[in-house]
Parts: sequence; C-alpha cells; structure tokens
Amino acid sequence: MELNPPWVPQGIRLYMRREDVIHPHVSGNKWRKLDLNLEEAARQGAKTLVTFGGAFSNHIYATAAAAQEAGFASAGIIRGEPSSADNATLSFARSCGMELIFAGRTDYRDKATLAEKFKDRWERPCFLPEGGTNCLAIKGCAKIVDDSLLDMDVIVVPFGTGGTMAGLIASTPGRIRILGISALKGDFPKATVAQLLESCGERDHNNWEVDLHGHEGGYARVTEPLLDFIRDFRHSQDILLDPVYTGKMMFRLKDLMQQGIFEPGTRICAIHTGGLQGWAGMKERFGIDPPA
Ligand SMILES: *Cc1c(COP(=O)(O)O)cnc(C)c1O
Repeated sequence: MELNPPWVPQGIRLYMRREDVIHPHVSGNKWRKLDLNLEEAARQGAKTLVTFGGAFSNHIYATAAAAQEAGFASAGIIRGEPSSADNATLSFARSCGMELIFAGRTDYRDKATLAEKFKDRWERPCFLPEGGTNCLAIKGCAKIVDDSLLDMDVIVVPFGTGGTMAGLIASTPGRIRILGISALKGDFPKATVAQLLESCGERDHNNWEVDLHGHEGGYARVTEPLLDFIRDFRHSQDILLDPVYTGKMMFRLKDLMQQGIFEPGTRICAIHTGGLQGWAGMKERFGIDPPA
C-alpha cells in the first residue's frame, strides 16, 4: 500500500508491505522464517521444536504459536531469570504449551553446550537458532518478494540477525537496492549478511547496505523522539509500528529522506516485519503504552 506521511519529499513514492498482518499470532518475518523449518522438521519426524531467545523475544512468541498450530511440542531456552516467566511474552508462550528453561547470561552465550545439556529431555527435538535465522529461514523470507516488490527501486527492512534482509537480497535482481536499518548498536552487520548468503549458497548482487545509525541508543532502547514519531505515524497512517524494529526503521528512513539521499522518482517500499507483541515488553519494563 502507498503511504503519504507529510515528511516524504516531493517526487518520492513510499509504500509499505504489511508482513505484520500475515498471521494472527506469528508475526511477519518470524512466520516467514519458521514456515520451511516447520515443514522440514515434520519431514524428519521431529516432535519438539526447541529454540533460544530473550524474555521479550518475538521469535520465542512466534515459535510457541507456530509449533502449537503445526502440532509440535515446543521448548524455549530463555536468557534471564525464572521470574520473567509471567511477563506477557512468556505467558503467551506457555499458554501455547511451550516449556521454558532459564539460563543465566554466561551460560546463555554458549548455546551449543546448552543444547547438548538438555537435548535428552525431549523426544526427537529439532533445534532452531536464536532469532530463527538459518538457510531455510532465508528461503522463507525470500518469499516476501512478489511482483509488486519487483516494481520498487529500494526495499527497506529492519535488521537484527540479517536473515530477513538476506532473503530479500537472494530473491531480487541487482537493480533493486536493499537497505537494512540495524536495530542494534555495533558495526558487524556487513560481514554477517555476506557470510549468511555465502554459507547458504544464495546469490549476492552486492546491491545492499546496512545503515547503523537508527538504533536509538541500542537494541530495545527507546527515545522520546522515536516514540513521538511512532505516535504520529499511527495517527497519520493508521499503522502501528513496533518499538524495537519497524519504528526505528521508519524513523531512520524519514531522516534519510530528509537528508535527500533518494533521487526524485524513487519508489521505496518499507517492510513492516511485525513485532507488535514487543509493546507488551515496553509496558512491563518502562510503563510505555503503544499509541491508541
Ligand atoms: C526479528 C525481527 C526482525 C529482525 O529480523 P532479522 O532477520 O533477524 O534481521 C525485524 N523485525 C521484527 C518485527 C522482528 O521480530
């Protein structure tokens, strides 16, 4: 759909792909990432999906819902304290039947050891990585690209592990520029994406870049200007963005547009990857409500 917020410069057309509405619980890119992984797990006769994530993780939330819907048991190895089991994200995961195991920050870093330690607990487990990114996830994210996206000059996507962006890169021709906006502080993404593409045997047109200046202080941090922007966007476009990924992407995109980095005539599509359950975490940690 085409958007028309007041900050889009003359001559530039801005669109949004609503991946946030593709499933009632399993939002956006997490659904895309799980889709082929679930198919493969079923083919291999796996019974329990086991994965990793933080206490407010979109991936944990999505895996719990998708596993239940597809008839798998599920377990989440969670970074943090058992006291977080009652937060909104983990309560939902438990309500889908997900078993939660908590690991301290140090143990959590070494996921291979954790997997080894717990693997006998489940009958026929299938382990999925934190954030859900693997080669099948990239293939799943490649399916975001359809004819309407092929009409674009630039596709903008939030960046966490880079799996979603890798899927877009793999499935678009070199004339389309892919711009990732990192939700994390740091300068590692460029190598990450190239490595992901290479290790999964996906083609790379080198038509992409990752912007590192939209993180607003770091992963899952928020600022007043960001929250104001999300509120305004909600009111002017009637679309709710999430505070961790898509809000930061659009806020940074606004900035880049106002800096004049896009030529007049450019068609830009931003991917709304979902993540709206993340507002529950904002409420619990900082008392911040989503805009009404
Ligand atoms: C996980 C997530 C991302 C990041 O996707 P990556 O493939 O890890 O880069 C972006 N947006 C939302 C809403 C997410 O939940």
